[in-house]
Amino acid sequence: MKMHETLPLIPIASGSGAWLHDFDGNHYLDAISSWWVNLFGHANPRIAGAISDQLGRLEHVILAGFTHAPAVELAERLAGRLPGLGHCFFASDGSSAVEIALKMSFHYWRNCGKPRKNGFVCVEGSYHGETLGALSVSDVALFRDVYAPLLNNVAKVPSADWRAAAPDETREQAAIRAAAALEAYLAANHEDIAALIVEPLVQCASGMQMYHPEYLRRARAACDRYSVHLIADEIAVGFGRTGSFFACEQASIRPDLLCLSKGITGGFLPLSAVLASEAIYGAFYDDELTRGFLHSHSYTGNPLACRAALAVLDIFEQDDVLETNRRKTVALNRLCEPIAAHPRVRHFRNTGMIWAFDVDTDDTRFGRHFYHAALREHLLLRPLGRTVYFMPPYIIGPDEMQLLADGTLTALDDALAQCG
Ligand code: PMP
Repeated sequence: MKMHETLPLIPIASGSGAWLHDFDGNHYLDAISSWWVNLFGHANPRIAGAISDQLGRLEHVILAGFTHAPAVELAERLAGRLPGLGHCFFASDGSSAVEIALKMSFHYWRNCGKPRKNGFVCVEGSYHGETLGALSVSDVALFRDVYAPLLNNVAKVPSADWRAAAPDETREQAAIRAAAALEAYLAANHEDIAALIVEPLVQCASGMQMYHPEYLRRARAACDRYSVHLIADEIAVGFGRTGSFFACEQASIRPDLLCLSKGITGGFLPLSAVLASEAIYGAFYDDELTRGFLHSHSYTGNPLACRAALAVLDIFEQDDVLETNRRKTVALNRLCEPIAAHPRVRHFRNTGMIWAFDVDTDDTRFGRHFYHAALREHLLLRPLGRTVYFMPPYIIGPDEMQLLADGTLTALDDALAQCG
């Protein structure tokens, strides 16, 4: 809060398409989709229409003992997107989805007579949320270190970040090397490990670390070999963000548990879901109450949020979103060539509708300077340390892409000039 003495909050009056409008007539291109949640623009009439229709029918009902059509339809349509994950557990945000996946994995092994399997493995630079269980499997020092005494001890394996590839190594070889370290860890410790949790293809919060899908294929094989669950946290990368509907599809793998949130409602309402395999579901199907999965949130499977999510799936089905995004990716990459060629830019990278680059500066104030400079260019961009990234809503148009590329270049030079 003290920072806001020099960095005042910006009150937003309204949003339309990719734009946010304040009360003073300024407008900002939401190039980070309001923390990666917005897919089809602010105040999107199709999603808003579905929610207002639902408002007149049923705003909420307890999802224990009772059920409702939007939750059933959403569970079925999500399950249809990744065959083999036919069971859906709803919650209200990303962190609670991660808590659910961790608890479910541990409880599964306990129900199977393997209570020793209670440890988790995460990847260097992972981020899975900030409640205590999710933070335990996260590796971002800024969020984690203060709370370390409250967190569970979790093992960390090397990331497959393609920036860490040796000069004579391809991105795929870097992924194979990281997967070998995982394999060695599981070989030695699998009897105490319930699950590996990964962010498929892009580790977003720790600086848009991108990696080759071969890592996921090998991680899946290692988890199978050592009877360890694979939890895919697609909270940030699901719903088309990496170019396929789910990022896991690019590795042709199916996780045991899949966490979804953020874009699920197009950024309208909080909702999350954990999809689980038949084997996991079956281990809880029992007369004995304590063998069941007892975990509840008041707003679990809220009908308004489920209707928003169904409208999002309709848009994917009716508008050929992935193909249109492919063309936008090519166009924005071309517009970004001057950024990639900038003498202070390192590792310009792109996966689907995510772009990132690192800035060569030692000045820790770079992020703040860049944020301010970008606002002057009508861009909402929040660097992660020295990494600048774009995660625009999918409805971004050609003029907006041009503004994003040009404004970023100007903001970069401004920020670097202030860093000295
Ligand atoms: N997992 C990932 C990969 C995320 O990016 C995030 C949010 N940035 C979360 C989990 C946590 O989601 P939420 O903020 O909704 O709790």
